[in-house]
Amino acid sequence: MIFYPVKRPDGNRGREQIQNMVYFIGAGPGDPELLTIKGKKIIDRADVIIYAGSLVNPQVLADRKPEAVVYDSAGMHLDQVIAVMEQAEKEGLTTARVHTGDPAIYGAHREQMDRLEALGIPYEIVPGVSSFLGAAAALHAEYTLPGVSQTVILTRMEGRTPVPEREGIRALAAHQATMVIFLSVGQIRKLCEQLIPAYGENTPAAAVYKATWQDEKIVRATLGTLAAEVEAAGITKTALILVGGFLGSDHELSKLYDKTFTHGYRKGISEK
Ligand code: SAH
Repeated sequence: MIFYPVKRPDGNRGREQIQNMVYFIGAGPGDPELLTIKGKKIIDRADVIIYAGSLVNPQVLADRKPEAVVYDSAGMHLDQVIAVMEQAEKEGLTTARVHTGDPAIYGAHREQMDRLEALGIPYEIVPGVSSFLGAAAALHAEYTLPGVSQTVILTRMEGRTPVPEREGIRALAAHQATMVIFLSVGQIRKLCEQLIPAYGENTPAAAVYKATWQDEKIVRATLGTLAAEVEAAGITKTALILVGGFLGSDHELSKLYDKTFTHGYRKGISEK
């Protein structure tokens, strides 16, 4: 167990502990300042760090202990990742398993948790800012506009990982909800073809490449023109595709901040 000095919100100083175990940490979408304070504290004190080098900004590891051993999981298979965690556990060390965005979204996270459970290795999860939230910030967008859509669908096209048939893009598009599509920019033409029958060609759409990174790129278009624009911008990976009326200009004002609308925290002003 490691104790380290902290300053508490009440101004007092004290010591907090990090137990030696495996911490799954969401590293956020790219900008290293979008790592949570909790995630950073653990990374900076970890003895062993396993991170997804293909997507995690290495700057999130910048303040690690000089003696921390770092593994890039890009070149490792599941057994190797688990073997590193198991060895660290045997030695009483703290492991930070650093995932991009939040591990709960396309993080291949469950299979690691299942293996740790089977081995009796304790773990905790520190959530992160998923890239779909980084993309909304980059676009200055709100996904849930009144009168437009109150539902966000996070999905992907089938790649080497299959997608259940009932969750095909065409079936999901029928809802005309806000859609955020991961892992699919490489199939942008096919994707747009499958979205257009339900949404129509003129529905606004966007691609955000490396949201919150310094080389972030945003392409705004309509479903009819998005594929060509994405190709022209040379975006082939690390991008989200976003579709829906939330990217347009029409919407109603919220009830939450409507001055005539009363809720638990605010009495409404009645207008004559
Ligand atoms: N767990 C991650 C997603 C991992 S899957 C999260 O919560 O964001 C990897 C896919 O996520 C990429 O192919 C891309 O579609 C998307 N992605 C990850 N980081 C991104 C970023 N900074 N900008 C845009 N898309 C990103």
